[in-house]
Amino acid sequence: MGAHLIFGAGLTASENDEAVRRTFLGQAHIAGTGPAGKTCRECRFWHKWKWGEEGERVACAPGYRNGHIKPAWCTRPILNKARRLVPAKAAACRLFEPSENVPPATKDLQALAQTPDPDSQTWVA
Ligand code: SF4
Repeated sequence: MGAHLIFGAGLTASENDEAVRRTFLGQAHIAGTGPAGKTCRECRFWHKWKWGEEGERVACAPGYRNGHIKPAWCTRPILNKARRLVPAKAAACRLFEPSENVPPATKDLQALAQTPDPDSQTWVA
């Protein structure tokens, strides 16, 4: 977020903008306002959805691409929040709640070959 802003003589960057610049569209609040060092990947609201056997939505891990975890949704219910995928590395916001099932940021590709379905683990939202 903020990369589209054109800074010039009338609009200058400031240290105060740093948190907003680090915030991704789709986050529930400003990045970095949560617990120090925590990321969205460690938050219980960060996940994707899949369809359960009875047609219900079930939270699940986003899976991996080239060994790195894919982005996922911030599902914290916020009115008019942008529906954009949030990268795992996004700094946690003040609405962070720790997840009981934090997926690893990277996947051991050899272990991945032995695990046919990395999305099979179900997350409790
Ligand atoms: S820390 Fe949690 S609530 Fe905040 S933006 Fe990330 S996933 Fe959403």
